[in-house]
Order: sequence, then C-alpha cells, then structure tokens
Amino acid sequence: MEEKKKEHHSNKTSRSKKESIIYLTFDDGPKEGTTNVILDILKEEGVKATFFVTNSGPDYLIKREADEGHTVALHTASHEYDKVYVSVESYFNDLASVQARVKRLTGKEANIIRFPGGSSNTISRNYCQGIMSQLTKEVLLRGYHYFDWNVSAEDAGGAKTSSSVYKNVTSSLSKSRANVVLLHDIKAQTRDALRDIIQYGKMHGYIFKEITYDTPMIIHKRNSPMKKHVLQLISKLSEETEKQKK
Ligand SMILES: [Zn+2]
Repeated sequence: MEEKKKEHHSNKTSRSKKESIIYLTFDDGPKEGTTNVILDILKEEGVKATFFVTNSGPDYLIKREADEGHTVALHTASHEYDKVYVSVESYFNDLASVQARVKRLTGKEANIIRFPGGSSNTISRNYCQGIMSQLTKEVLLRGYHYFDWNVSAEDAGGAKTSSSVYKNVTSSLSKSRANVVLLHDIKAQTRDALRDIIQYGKMHGYIFKEITYDTPMIIHKRNSPMKKHVLQLISKLSEETEKQKK
C-alpha cells in the first residue's frame, strides 16, 4: 500500500524540487531586433524558454516561438497599468485580446499568464484597491496558472548593460530548486547577455525547461488575507488536474 502510494504520486513535484532548473522567461515582447536574435541563440544552445507576450511586435515572432517549441504565454495586450488594473473586467478584456492573437498565430489557447508587475505589484492599488487579490483568485478559477519569478535580471530597471544582466542573473541562481528568471526580450542588453547566461547554467549543472501547465507555480508572497485562500485553491485545482489525467 505504502509503495503504491509513493508510485502513484510519481513525484514529479518533489523530484523537480531537487533538480536544479532554470526557466528562462521573457516578458513584454516580441520585438524585432531582439526577440529574433534570442530565438536564434536558444535554438543554437538547444534551450527551451517561455515568452509572456503582449500585442506589440511582429506576428511572425510569436509564431516562431511556438514553432520552435517554446511556451507562448500571456502578459496582457496593452501592458498599461491604468487600463488593465482598473477593474477585473478591464483586465480580462485586455487578456482576451492577447489570447486571441496567440490563438490566431499558434492555433492554441495559452493557459499560462504573468501579471504586469507580478502578482505582488502595488502599483495596481492606485487604480483599484484590492484588484490583485481578486485577479489572482479569478485567473485560477478561469483555468489559468500564473507565474511570478524568483530571479530577476533587473533589465527593465537598473541593469543597462549585458554584464549587469549577466551578473544579476547568475548571482541569484540557486541549485536544487526551480529558478524562474525574469528577463525582457525587448532589451538589447538581455539579448547580448543570453548566451553567457545559458553557458553559465550549463557549466554549473542546471537544466533548462520551458514552463508548462504542470510546472509548480512560483508566486510572490503577498501580505493579504486572500493569500491563504489562493494557496488552498491552487492545491484543490492541482488535485483536480491530477484526477482528470487518470
Ligand atoms: Zn511586463
């Protein structure tokens, strides 16, 4: 009985906790001049990644992301905080727009998202108090998984050179865990740091993976009474997903 139980779990989750994994995630694209080069590097290095796309940039790059085996995920259409965080309805209207684009280009609906600013952002409060508590719950109910990050390149902020992007990423990686690395494929310094980051990872025994629906969610802690509720919901939903698989 005991053995069966262990086997049944097949320990995808606990095994992946011990593995040293890097999930490269690229936000805000696609963009000509950077995303295409990033795709070339990923292909040459044999690495899969995740792109949280918007409605900007050329269509063919999103198609290429999907065709080359990367995960195309949703980041919002407009990326404008004062639009998407005004209300739950505004958020989902905006999300529907980028979802339609992805569906048109890849033939598939994306089920993975990242909130602009992450789920713990405080900017959204300026537009609608409590919106993140509502959204983090509502996206799960609508069948999405959302991902924050635990390593940041700071390439949308202070890291203006490829060496600072490289340093920020490599100094924050940890072995024996899932490292979800926040990068922006619209940034030249990120494009220019990518190959060295990948080679550092390979040299230090990390494996690279794209995020899938089964990847355990990495989410920021929020000081909210809703947090407990969200965590309960996540474990309930993943139990249901497990059941559906059988
Ligand atoms: Zn963003």
